[in-house]
Amino acid sequence: MSELDDLYQEVILDHNRSPRNFRKLQDANRTADGYNPLCGDQITVYLKLEGNLIKDVTFQGSGCAISKASASMMTSSLKGKSVDEAEALFEKVHKMLKGELDGKVNPGDLGKLEVLSGVCNFPARVKCASLSWHTLHAALHGEGVTTTE
Ligand code: ZN
Repeated sequence: MSELDDLYQEVILDHNRSPRNFRKLQDANRTADGYNPLCGDQITVYLKLEGNLIKDVTFQGSGCAISKASASMMTSSLKGKSVDEAEALFEKVHKMLKGELDGKVNPGDLGKLEVLSGVCNFPARVKCASLSWHTLHAALHGEGVTTTE
């Protein structure tokens, strides 16, 4: 697993050790479950939407360090954002993880999420990192359950 060392940067390790917003959101009005069968990562995303605004977003679940850190960073970046901004960020992160940013998006736009950019070099880990984002997408669209397959 030594090729993964580059991925386990301090930020990822920190978010894995003490994930932000790792709790059930009692007054959530949208939730979705996500599952990545390749790795066994499971996540539930809780959203509290007020109109077009994400008032709060939390998650629970179990999985590898990448999936948990990605969910932790996602919830930290989305609180207080509009649904449109969240969808735009989802698109950017998705492209970043697949290594398709190709200059159209400034990686700096992604803030701390940029630490996940190295994941695109490890195809088996892309689904770990994108699981929380797909699950968020499902929650926003009321789909309830999503899987990376
Ligand atoms: Zn994983």
